[in-house]
Amino acid sequence: MAEHRYGLGDRGPAVSEIRAKLVQLGLLPASGESGDPVEATFDQAVDQAIRQFQQQRGLSATGIVDAETYRVLDEARWRLGDRLLSYVAGHPLIGDDVAALQRRLLELGFEVNRVDGVYGPVTEQAVREFQRSVGVPVDGICGPATFKALARLSPIVTGGRADALRESERIHRAGPMLPGKVVVVDPGHGGDDRGYVANGLVEAEVAYDLAARVEGRLAATGVRVFLTRGRDNNPDEASRARFANETNANLVVSLHVDAHPNPEANGVATYYYGTVGGDGIRSTLGERFAGLVQRELVARTDLLDCRTHAKTWDLLRYTSMPTVRVEIGYITNPEDAARLADPAFRDIVAEAIVVAIQRLYLPPDMDAPTGVMQLRELIR
Ligand SMILES: [Zn+2]
Repeated sequence: MAEHRYGLGDRGPAVSEIRAKLVQLGLLPASGESGDPVEATFDQAVDQAIRQFQQQRGLSATGIVDAETYRVLDEARWRLGDRLLSYVAGHPLIGDDVAALQRRLLELGFEVNRVDGVYGPVTEQAVREFQRSVGVPVDGICGPATFKALARLSPIVTGGRADALRESERIHRAGPMLPGKVVVVDPGHGGDDRGYVANGLVEAEVAYDLAARVEGRLAATGVRVFLTRGRDNNPDEASRARFANETNANLVVSLHVDAHPNPEANGVATYYYGTVGGDGIRSTLGERFAGLVQRELVARTDLLDCRTHAKTWDLLRYTSMPTVRVEIGYITNPEDAARLADPAFRDIVAEAIVVAIQRLYLPPDMDAPTGVMQLRELIR
Protein backbone atom coordinates (compact mmCIF):
# COMPACT_ATOMS: atom_id res chain seq x y z
CA MET A 1 0.00 0.00 0.00
CA ALA A 2 2.70 2.43 1.04
CA GLU A 3 4.25 2.19 -2.43
CA HIS A 4 1.05 3.04 -4.28
CA ARG A 5 -1.13 6.03 -4.96
CA TYR A 6 -4.86 5.78 -5.47
CA GLY A 7 -7.12 8.31 -7.12
CA LEU A 8 -10.17 8.83 -9.25
CA GLY A 9 -10.96 5.81 -11.45
CA ASP A 10 -8.83 3.27 -9.57
CA ARG A 11 -10.39 -0.06 -8.63
CA GLY A 12 -9.70 -3.02 -6.44
CA PRO A 13 -9.30 -4.28 -2.86
CA ALA A 14 -7.20 -1.29 -1.73
CA VAL A 15 -9.98 1.06 -2.88
CA SER A 16 -12.47 -1.12 -1.00
CA GLU A 17 -10.36 -0.64 2.13
CA ILE A 18 -10.19 3.13 1.61
CA ARG A 19 -13.96 3.27 1.17
CA ALA A 20 -14.48 1.26 4.37
CA LYS A 21 -12.32 3.68 6.36
CA LEU A 22 -14.20 6.69 4.99
CA VAL A 23 -17.52 5.05 5.90
CA GLN A 24 -16.23 4.39 9.40
CA LEU A 25 -15.25 8.05 9.74
CA GLY A 26 -18.70 9.15 8.59
CA LEU A 27 -17.31 10.82 5.47
CA LEU A 28 -18.97 8.42 3.05
CA PRO A 29 -22.47 6.88 3.22
CA ALA A 30 -22.41 3.15 3.96
CA SER A 31 -24.60 2.21 1.00
CA GLY A 32 -23.63 1.76 -2.64
CA GLU A 33 -20.85 -0.76 -2.16
CA SER A 34 -21.05 -4.07 -4.01
CA GLY A 35 -19.90 -7.13 -2.14
CA ASP A 36 -16.83 -7.86 -4.22
CA PRO A 37 -13.81 -5.75 -3.16
CA VAL A 38 -12.26 -6.21 -6.62
CA GLU A 39 -15.16 -4.16 -7.99
CA ALA A 40 -14.71 -1.26 -5.51
CA THR A 41 -14.24 1.99 -7.42
CA PHE A 42 -12.56 5.24 -6.49
CA ASP A 43 -15.45 7.39 -7.72
CA GLN A 44 -16.39 11.08 -7.37
CA ALA A 45 -17.86 10.51 -3.91
CA VAL A 46 -14.62 8.92 -2.67
CA ASP A 47 -12.60 11.72 -4.25
CA GLN A 48 -14.75 14.33 -2.44
CA ALA A 49 -14.53 12.46 0.87
CA ILE A 50 -10.75 12.14 0.61
CA ARG A 51 -10.38 15.84 -0.14
CA GLN A 52 -12.59 16.69 2.84
CA PHE A 53 -10.56 14.37 5.06
CA GLN A 54 -7.26 15.83 3.84
CA GLN A 55 -8.53 19.33 4.55
CA GLN A 56 -9.66 18.42 8.07
CA ARG A 57 -6.31 16.85 8.80
CA GLY A 58 -4.08 19.58 7.44
CA LEU A 59 -2.89 17.55 4.46
CA SER A 60 -2.77 18.96 0.94
CA ALA A 61 -6.27 18.39 -0.47
CA THR A 62 -5.24 16.48 -3.60
CA GLY A 63 -7.89 13.74 -3.63
CA ILE A 64 -5.00 11.28 -4.05
CA VAL A 65 -4.43 8.63 -1.40
CA ASP A 66 -0.64 8.50 -1.15
CA ALA A 67 1.32 6.83 1.64
CA GLU A 68 0.89 9.80 4.01
CA THR A 69 -2.86 10.19 3.48
CA TYR A 70 -3.33 6.45 3.84
CA ARG A 71 -1.43 6.42 7.10
CA VAL A 72 -3.39 9.34 8.58
CA LEU A 73 -6.62 7.69 7.40
CA ASP A 74 -5.58 4.53 9.16
CA GLU A 75 -4.72 6.37 12.39
CA ALA A 76 -8.05 8.20 12.44
CA ARG A 77 -10.13 5.09 13.06
CA TRP A 78 -9.01 4.53 16.67
CA ARG A 79 -11.24 5.64 19.54
CA LEU A 80 -9.94 5.79 23.11
CA GLY A 81 -10.47 2.37 24.66
CA ASP A 82 -10.37 0.45 21.34
CA ARG A 83 -6.93 -0.97 22.06
CA LEU A 84 -4.22 -1.11 24.71
CA LEU A 85 -1.84 1.84 24.47
CA SER A 86 1.80 1.56 25.39
CA TYR A 87 5.11 3.05 24.43
CA VAL A 88 7.12 1.03 21.92
CA ALA A 89 10.53 2.61 21.32
CA GLY A 90 11.16 3.09 17.61
CA HIS A 91 7.58 2.18 16.65
CA PRO A 92 5.31 4.46 18.66
CA LEU A 93 1.57 3.84 18.51
CA ILE A 94 -0.15 6.59 16.59
CA GLY A 95 -3.81 7.42 16.32
CA ASP A 96 -6.78 9.51 17.28
CA ASP A 97 -7.13 7.46 20.46
CA VAL A 98 -3.65 8.59 21.54
CA ALA A 99 -4.59 12.20 20.79
CA ALA A 100 -7.75 11.78 22.90
CA LEU A 101 -5.65 10.34 25.73
CA GLN A 102 -3.19 13.23 25.53
CA ARG A 103 -6.01 15.80 25.51
CA ARG A 104 -7.51 14.13 28.59
CA LEU A 105 -4.17 14.03 30.44
CA LEU A 106 -3.58 17.70 29.67
CA GLU A 107 -7.04 18.62 30.91
CA LEU A 108 -6.24 16.77 34.11
CA GLY A 109 -3.04 18.74 34.54
CA PHE A 110 -0.47 16.16 33.46
CA GLU A 111 2.54 17.12 31.37
CA VAL A 112 2.39 15.84 27.80
CA ASN A 113 4.51 17.66 25.29
CA ARG A 114 1.52 18.39 23.09
CA VAL A 115 -1.45 16.67 21.54
CA ASP A 116 0.08 15.00 18.49
CA GLY A 117 -1.44 11.52 18.58
CA VAL A 118 1.95 9.84 19.06
CA TYR A 119 2.45 7.65 22.15
CA GLY A 120 6.02 8.71 22.92
CA PRO A 121 8.08 8.60 26.11
CA VAL A 122 6.62 11.85 27.47
CA THR A 123 3.08 10.51 27.08
CA GLU A 124 4.12 7.26 28.75
CA GLN A 125 5.58 9.23 31.65
CA ALA A 126 2.36 11.23 31.98
CA VAL A 127 0.37 7.98 32.04
CA ARG A 128 2.62 6.66 34.80
CA GLU A 129 2.11 9.80 36.84
CA PHE A 130 -1.59 9.62 36.27
CA GLN A 131 -1.65 5.96 37.32
CA ARG A 132 0.32 6.76 40.47
CA SER A 133 -2.02 9.59 41.38
CA VAL A 134 -5.18 7.53 41.03
CA GLY A 135 -3.85 4.28 42.52
CA VAL A 136 -3.83 2.19 39.35
CA PRO A 137 -0.82 -0.18 38.93
CA VAL A 138 1.97 1.95 37.48
CA ASP A 139 3.12 0.35 34.20
CA GLY A 140 2.78 3.18 31.65
CA ILE A 141 0.31 1.04 29.71
CA CYS A 142 -3.11 2.45 29.10
CA GLY A 143 -5.48 -0.48 29.68
CA PRO A 144 -9.02 -0.99 31.03
CA ALA A 145 -8.31 0.21 34.60
CA THR A 146 -6.61 3.38 33.32
CA PHE A 147 -9.37 4.06 30.77
CA LYS A 148 -11.93 3.78 33.56
CA ALA A 149 -10.01 6.14 35.83
CA LEU A 150 -9.61 8.65 32.97
CA ALA A 151 -13.33 8.60 32.29
CA ARG A 152 -14.19 9.04 35.97
CA LEU A 153 -12.21 12.18 36.70
CA SER A 154 -13.48 15.58 35.73
CA PRO A 155 -10.96 17.92 34.15
CA ILE A 156 -9.54 20.92 36.03
CA VAL A 157 -9.22 22.89 32.80
CA THR A 158 -11.37 22.37 29.73
CA GLY A 159 -10.68 22.36 26.01
CA GLY A 160 -7.29 23.17 24.57
CA ARG A 161 -6.58 25.83 27.19
CA ALA A 162 -4.17 23.70 29.21
CA ASP A 163 -2.12 23.07 26.09
CA ALA A 164 -1.75 26.81 25.49
CA LEU A 165 -0.95 27.50 29.12
CA ARG A 166 1.76 24.89 29.22
CA GLU A 167 3.42 26.04 26.03
CA SER A 168 3.55 29.67 27.11
CA GLU A 169 4.86 28.56 30.49
CA ARG A 170 7.62 26.71 28.69
CA ILE A 171 8.66 29.83 26.79
CA HIS A 172 8.66 31.72 30.03
CA ARG A 173 10.97 29.16 31.62
CA ALA A 174 13.29 29.21 28.59
CA GLY A 175 13.96 32.90 29.33
CA PRO A 176 14.12 35.85 26.98
CA MET A 177 17.68 35.61 25.67
CA LEU A 178 19.03 33.66 22.77
CA PRO A 179 22.42 32.41 24.09
CA GLY A 180 22.22 28.75 25.01
CA LYS A 181 19.20 28.08 22.79
CA VAL A 182 19.43 25.28 20.25
CA VAL A 183 17.92 25.79 16.82
CA VAL A 184 17.81 23.20 14.05
CA VAL A 185 17.75 24.66 10.55
CA ASP A 186 16.42 22.31 7.89
CA PRO A 187 17.32 23.05 4.27
CA GLY A 188 14.70 21.20 2.22
CA HIS A 189 15.62 18.45 -0.26
CA GLY A 190 19.29 17.77 -1.12
CA GLY A 191 21.31 15.02 -2.80
CA ASP A 192 19.41 13.50 -5.71
CA ASP A 193 16.29 15.40 -4.71
CA ARG A 194 16.84 18.89 -6.09
CA GLY A 195 13.35 20.12 -5.21
CA TYR A 196 11.76 22.52 -7.67
CA VAL A 197 13.91 23.73 -10.53
CA ALA A 198 12.97 26.83 -12.53
CA ASN A 199 14.26 30.16 -13.76
CA GLY A 200 17.86 29.01 -13.39
CA LEU A 201 17.41 28.20 -9.70
CA VAL A 202 17.46 24.88 -7.85
CA GLU A 203 15.38 24.72 -4.65
CA ALA A 204 17.83 22.44 -2.79
CA GLU A 205 20.67 24.90 -3.43
CA VAL A 206 18.65 28.00 -2.52
CA ALA A 207 17.48 26.30 0.70
CA TYR A 208 21.01 25.29 1.64
CA ASP A 209 22.39 28.76 1.01
CA LEU A 210 19.60 30.37 3.05
CA ALA A 211 20.21 27.87 5.85
CA ALA A 212 23.90 28.78 5.93
CA ARG A 213 23.00 32.48 6.17
CA VAL A 214 20.54 31.83 9.02
CA GLU A 215 23.12 29.63 10.73
CA GLY A 216 25.80 32.33 10.63
CA ARG A 217 23.50 34.97 12.08
CA LEU A 218 22.09 32.74 14.79
CA ALA A 219 25.54 31.58 15.84
CA ALA A 220 26.53 35.26 16.23
CA THR A 221 23.74 35.69 18.80
CA GLY A 222 25.00 32.75 20.87
CA VAL A 223 22.55 30.16 19.59
CA ARG A 224 23.78 26.62 18.96
CA VAL A 225 22.74 25.76 15.41
CA PHE A 226 22.51 22.39 13.69
CA LEU A 227 21.66 21.75 10.05
CA THR A 228 19.67 18.62 9.19
CA ARG A 229 21.75 17.89 6.14
CA GLY A 230 25.01 18.66 4.42
CA ARG A 231 25.32 20.19 1.00
CA ASP A 232 24.82 16.91 -0.86
CA ASN A 233 22.72 14.46 1.16
CA ASN A 234 18.99 14.05 1.59
CA PRO A 235 17.77 12.45 4.84
CA ASP A 236 14.03 11.69 4.82
CA GLU A 237 11.61 13.81 6.83
CA ALA A 238 11.43 11.28 9.67
CA SER A 239 15.24 11.24 10.04
CA ARG A 240 15.29 15.03 10.06
CA ALA A 241 12.65 15.07 12.81
CA ARG A 242 14.53 12.44 14.81
CA PHE A 243 17.71 14.49 14.48
CA ALA A 244 15.94 17.59 15.84
CA ASN A 245 14.51 15.59 18.74
CA GLU A 246 17.89 14.10 19.57
CA THR A 247 19.59 17.50 19.67
CA ASN A 248 16.90 18.68 22.10
CA ALA A 249 16.38 21.72 19.93
CA ASN A 250 14.17 24.57 21.13
CA LEU A 251 12.95 25.28 17.60
CA VAL A 252 13.15 23.96 14.05
CA VAL A 253 13.00 26.10 10.92
CA SER A 254 12.56 24.29 7.61
CA LEU A 255 13.39 26.22 4.45
CA HIS A 256 11.77 25.64 1.07
CA VAL A 257 10.57 27.55 -1.97
CA ASP A 258 7.25 26.91 -3.66
CA ALA A 259 6.31 26.33 -7.30
CA HIS A 260 3.15 26.42 -9.38
CA PRO A 261 2.23 25.61 -13.00
CA ASN A 262 0.92 29.18 -13.25
CA PRO A 263 3.94 31.54 -13.31
CA GLU A 264 1.73 34.29 -11.81
CA ALA A 265 1.59 32.48 -8.46
CA ASN A 266 3.93 34.20 -6.00
CA GLY A 267 4.48 35.02 -2.36
CA VAL A 268 5.63 33.63 0.98
CA ALA A 269 3.75 31.29 3.35
CA THR A 270 4.65 29.74 6.69
CA TYR A 271 3.34 26.43 8.00
CA TYR A 272 3.08 25.01 11.53
CA TYR A 273 1.79 21.81 13.07
CA GLY A 274 -1.96 21.54 13.33
CA THR A 275 -5.22 20.45 11.78
CA VAL A 276 -8.08 22.58 10.56
CA GLY A 277 -11.59 22.41 11.94
CA GLY A 278 -13.65 22.32 15.13
CA ASP A 279 -11.65 20.01 17.38
CA GLY A 280 -8.47 20.82 15.47
CA ILE A 281 -5.20 20.06 17.21
CA ARG A 282 -2.35 22.48 16.84
CA SER A 283 0.91 23.58 18.32
CA THR A 284 0.07 26.91 19.95
CA LEU A 285 3.68 27.97 20.10
CA GLY A 286 4.29 26.71 16.56
CA GLU A 287 1.41 28.86 15.35
CA ARG A 288 2.80 31.90 17.14
CA PHE A 289 6.29 31.27 15.81
CA ALA A 290 4.93 30.88 12.27
CA GLY A 291 3.08 34.18 12.66
CA LEU A 292 6.27 35.96 13.71
CA VAL A 293 8.32 34.50 10.85
CA GLN A 294 5.64 35.38 8.35
CA ARG A 295 5.21 38.93 9.65
CA GLU A 296 8.94 39.69 9.67
CA LEU A 297 9.36 38.32 6.14
CA VAL A 298 6.40 40.28 4.80
CA ALA A 299 7.51 43.48 6.56
CA ARG A 300 11.10 43.28 5.31
CA THR A 301 10.60 42.05 1.73
CA ASP A 302 8.09 42.77 -1.01
CA LEU A 303 6.97 39.15 -1.16
CA LEU A 304 3.20 38.71 -1.28
CA ASP A 305 1.71 37.63 2.07
CA CYS A 306 0.28 34.14 1.57
CA ARG A 307 -0.23 33.88 5.37
CA THR A 308 0.30 31.02 7.83
CA HIS A 309 -1.38 27.63 7.67
CA ALA A 310 -1.72 24.54 9.84
CA LYS A 311 -0.39 21.32 8.31
CA THR A 312 0.42 17.82 9.53
CA TRP A 313 3.44 17.18 7.34
CA ASP A 314 5.83 14.65 8.88
CA LEU A 315 8.52 17.12 9.91
CA LEU A 316 5.99 19.37 11.66
CA ARG A 317 4.36 16.46 13.37
CA TYR A 318 7.24 14.29 14.48
CA THR A 319 9.35 17.07 15.94
CA SER A 320 8.65 17.50 19.64
CA MET A 321 9.45 21.23 19.58
CA PRO A 322 7.77 24.09 17.69
CA THR A 323 8.64 23.68 14.02
CA VAL A 324 7.81 25.94 11.11
CA ARG A 325 8.28 25.43 7.42
CA VAL A 326 8.68 28.54 5.31
CA GLU A 327 8.00 28.50 1.57
CA ILE A 328 9.94 31.58 0.55
CA GLY A 329 8.59 32.72 -2.79
CA TYR A 330 7.64 30.83 -5.94
CA ILE A 331 10.63 29.69 -7.95
CA THR A 332 8.28 29.52 -10.99
CA ASN A 333 7.41 33.22 -10.72
CA PRO A 334 9.97 35.37 -12.59
CA GLU A 335 9.86 38.21 -10.00
CA ASP A 336 10.16 35.91 -6.98
CA ALA A 337 12.94 33.97 -8.72
CA ALA A 338 14.85 37.20 -9.38
CA ARG A 339 14.54 38.07 -5.68
CA LEU A 340 15.70 34.61 -4.63
CA ALA A 341 18.73 34.83 -6.90
CA ASP A 342 19.90 38.02 -5.18
CA PRO A 343 22.34 37.49 -2.27
CA ALA A 344 21.18 40.73 -0.62
CA PHE A 345 17.60 39.42 -0.61
CA ARG A 346 18.76 36.15 0.94
CA ASP A 347 20.46 38.13 3.71
CA ILE A 348 17.24 39.99 4.45
CA VAL A 349 15.34 36.69 4.61
CA ALA A 350 17.93 35.24 7.00
CA GLU A 351 17.77 38.31 9.21
CA ALA A 352 13.96 38.22 9.30
CA ILE A 353 14.02 34.60 10.47
CA VAL A 354 16.59 35.30 13.20
CA VAL A 355 14.61 38.29 14.47
CA ALA A 356 11.42 36.19 14.51
CA ILE A 357 13.22 33.63 16.68
CA GLN A 358 14.32 36.34 19.09
CA ARG A 359 10.83 37.83 19.25
CA LEU A 360 9.42 34.48 20.22
CA TYR A 361 11.42 34.64 23.44
CA LEU A 362 10.99 38.32 24.22
CA PRO A 363 8.55 39.21 26.97
CA PRO A 364 5.77 41.42 25.51
CA ASP A 365 7.07 44.61 27.19
CA MET A 366 10.49 44.22 25.53
CA ASP A 367 9.13 43.67 22.05
CA ALA A 368 9.54 46.19 19.23
CA PRO A 369 7.25 46.75 16.23
CA THR A 370 7.54 44.25 13.39
CA GLY A 371 10.24 44.90 10.82
CA VAL A 372 12.35 47.37 12.82
CA MET A 373 14.49 45.21 15.09
CA GLN A 374 18.11 45.00 13.91
CA LEU A 375 20.29 41.97 14.19
CA ARG A 376 23.07 43.88 15.94
CA GLU A 377 20.67 44.65 18.81
CA LEU A 378 20.49 40.93 19.43
CA ILE A 379 24.23 40.36 19.61
CA ARG A 380 25.56 40.84 23.09
ZN1 LIG B 1 10.52 22.04 -1.08
